[in-house]
Amino acid sequence: SQLPADPILENSRRQVSNACFSYVTPKKTANPEIIHVSDDMLRTLGLTKKDSATKEFLNVFTGNSVMPNTKPYAMCYGGHQFGNWAGQLGDGRAINLAEVEHNNKIWALQLKGAGETPYSRSADGLAVLRSSVREYLCSEAMYHLGVPTTRALSLALTGDNVLRDMLYNGNAAYEKGAVVTRVAPSFLRFGSFQLLAAKEDISTLTTLVNYTIKNHYSHLGNPSKETYIAFFKEVAERTLEMIVHWQRVGFVHGVMNTDNMSILGLTIDYGPYGWLDDYNPDWTPNTTDAENRRYRYNNQPNVGLWNLFQLANALFPLVNEAAPLEAILDDYKLGYDKASLKMMRSKIGLFTEFDTDYKLIEQLEENLQRVETDMTIFYRNLSTFNKNAPKEALNSIKEAFYNTNTLTDDVKTHWNNWFTSYASRLKLEKTTDDERKVKMNLTNPKYVLRNYMAQLAIDAADNGNYAVLDELYQLLKNPYKEQPEHQKWFAKRPDWAKHKVGCSM
Ligand code: AMP
Ligand code: MG
Ligand code: MG
Repeated sequence: SQLPADPILENSRRQVSNACFSYVTPKKTANPEIIHVSDDMLRTLGLTKKDSATKEFLNVFTGNSVMPNTKPYAMCYGGHQFGNWAGQLGDGRAINLAEVEHNNKIWALQLKGAGETPYSRSADGLAVLRSSVREYLCSEAMYHLGVPTTRALSLALTGDNVLRDMLYNGNAAYEKGAVVTRVAPSFLRFGSFQLLAAKEDISTLTTLVNYTIKNHYSHLGNPSKETYIAFFKEVAERTLEMIVHWQRVGFVHGVMNTDNMSILGLTIDYGPYGWLDDYNPDWTPNTTDAENRRYRYNNQPNVGLWNLFQLANALFPLVNEAAPLEAILDDYKLGYDKASLKMMRSKIGLFTEFDTDYKLIEQLEENLQRVETDMTIFYRNLSTFNKNAPKEALNSIKEAFYNTNTLTDDVKTHWNNWFTSYASRLKLEKTTDDERKVKMNLTNPKYVLRNYMAQLAIDAADNGNYAVLDELYQLLKNPYKEQPEHQKWFAKRPDWAKHKVGCSM
């Protein structure tokens, strides 16, 4: 690697200076077992199903053996957690194994949960089955939804038990240990750059920025002040695009700390993430953030900007001029509004632009919050809207309401008014209802990984049954397809799942 390494060759916890990573050794596990492999990711890496059934695959992707001529490492980074600078964080339970090249693309392979590193702080470097199923399924689902994301190759049990404080009952309990193999062109984060800037280690910072541009933004050209500005501009654009996708599919990351922001604009670090069931823009899946709700659904675009501002500060020593960085941050604000409006138009099947569209979308968002309304089901069913019969629409979308008893006359009037405006607006489009339906169904997924679905896969897997895990993996490969045989997953969140959220630990 062209990046400076920590000279100390051991896993013990410590502060690391003048380096971007530390060499580490993954922990051997008691009884490793691969329980799922992403066939899509296998293919992307040039591997076959047969390869994934070998002893070597099992050992390498559970940390029990290290591939010849490779040196696993954990990355050093810092970050702002919930708005506060936290200093050195680093890969506390992630270990990069190697990079592989296939079809002219380079992929970094990383184990999550393979034991302690210099960055493990007070934790154990391990992961449990629960959080690993959630990361494994969701990262692949996001990819198939067309959302920029890190990927997952495999999910394995370690055979070791891991002690965790269960979020709900507060008692410590043993859970099954697991390892996910994550895959991405790079796992560098905003925090990788921030930590070096915070330490005023401008030499290593420059090396890291040049490395990132050379390996991941090479189209921007050789290092120069202009290239650094163009680099920041593209990171801002990619971040914006990623967040617009999140808003489109109703994904709430839950922990948008700057150490969880990919320098490639990929969704990274699937912890207590969640999906909007009922459309509640104030919702966050993160119970530790219930008070401030910093990372709630409708604040994600603002947090993206706040995080980019931190990255701009980190890159400042290389640019030494505030104006061009500030201009990019200003562009984000305007750019987000524009991109969001375009995305919302596509969700409701508008392909031309009228000034009044903004109002129509605003009224829709108001209506969606009048009574609990399932976001995914609503948009999917809206594609069947008949522009010549707006009065029938309420009936065709009522499946999206959590409780039809709450539909007062007042609410019905609001909806009927909206459908009437929507019908008039659609008459200004050239598309037929059938054409619109096809296009809307490519934007509005039928199937997303609702929390209760992940929970069902977890509960079964905990009992040694991986059928639900596989069923969801297969289902979520085609989230925009009808898949009538899987209709049972096109359903509102059941009552038992209402106040449950995921947990990242
Ligand atoms: P997160 O909130 O998951 O992004 O994690 C924040 C920091 O805590 C990162 O440095 C993680 O690597 C570290 N971390 C989280 N869980 C563990 C764990 N079980 N063992 C060691 N480090 C951890
Ligand atoms: Mg993290
Ligand atoms: Mg995490």
